[in-house]
Amino acid sequence: MTNQVNNASSILTVEQVNDMFIYVGEKVIEAKLWLTDIDCAIGDGDHGIGMEVGFKHALEKLKANNYDKINDVFAEIGKAMIGNMGGASGVLFGTLFLSGVKGLEKIEQLDVAILGTIFENGLLGVQSRGKAEVGDKTMIDALAPAVDALREANKNQLGLVASFTNATEAAKQGVENSKALVAKFGRAKSLGERAIGHQDAGATTISIIFESMRNYVVELENKGELLNV
Ligand code: ADP
Ligand code: MG
Repeated sequence: MTNQVNNASSILTVEQVNDMFIYVGEKVIEAKLWLTDIDCAIGDGDHGIGMEVGFKHALEKLKANNYDKINDVFAEIGKAMIGNMGGASGVLFGTLFLSGVKGLEKIEQLDVAILGTIFENGLLGVQSRGKAEVGDKTMIDALAPAVDALREANKNQLGLVASFTNATEAAKQGVENSKALVAKFGRAKSLGERAIGHQDAGATTISIIFESMRNYVVELENKGELLNV
C-alpha cells in the first residue's frame, strides 16, 4: 500500500520539526522494553536503554531551546546521542542525525526534497562509519529503503504525509526482511544462523522513528496545522 496523495508543497517550520522530534523521542522511549527484548534475543539487551538515554538527553535540549534553523535540531539530537549513549549505536544513530545536516545551508522550512537530502546524507554517514550494507542485518536494512522511498516521493512530487507514509512502510518492510538474515555486524554476528528469525533492534528503532514522524505530520494535517507554501 503506497500513499499517492499529492500535497506536494507541504512544509514543516523549525518549531514543528523541533516538536516532531520531541514526539519521536517520546515514542522511542516508550518502546524501550520492546527494543531491549529484541536486542536480548540476538544482542546484549541494551538497545532500548541506550536509545532512551540518547533521546532523554536530546529531549532536554529540544525542550529548553528555541532554534532558528532545522539544522540545529538535527545536530543537537546527534550530539546528545554521541555524547551520552555509548555502544555501537550511540555513534551510529548520532552520526545519522549529525551527518544528515552537515554542510547544509540554513534550513528554515523542511520540505520533502530537503528531508530526503538529510536522510540520504545521514545514511551515507552511517555507512561510512559502520560499513554495513542492506542485507547485513543492521539499522541500514530499514534506513536505506526509507531513504529510497523519500527519493522516489520527491521525484513524484508527493507531500510530507505521503512521503513519510511511504518511508515508514519501506522501513517496516526492511525490519521484516531483517528477520531472515544472518548478521554481518554488531553482537548478533557471533550468533551466525541462530540470529535467523529475529528482527534487528536498530532497524526496529529506525522504523519507530519514521512511523512517529509520519504520525506527527498526520496529526498536524488533521488539526489543519500542516502548512503549504
Ligand atoms: P551494541 O551493539 O553496542 O550493544 P545497541 O544494542 O544499542 O549497541 O545497538 C545494536 C544495533 O546497532 C544493531 O541492532 C544494529 O542495527 C546496529 N549496528 C551495529 N553495528 C552496526 C553497523 N556496523 N552499521 C550499522 N548499524 C549497526
Ligand atoms: Mg546491544
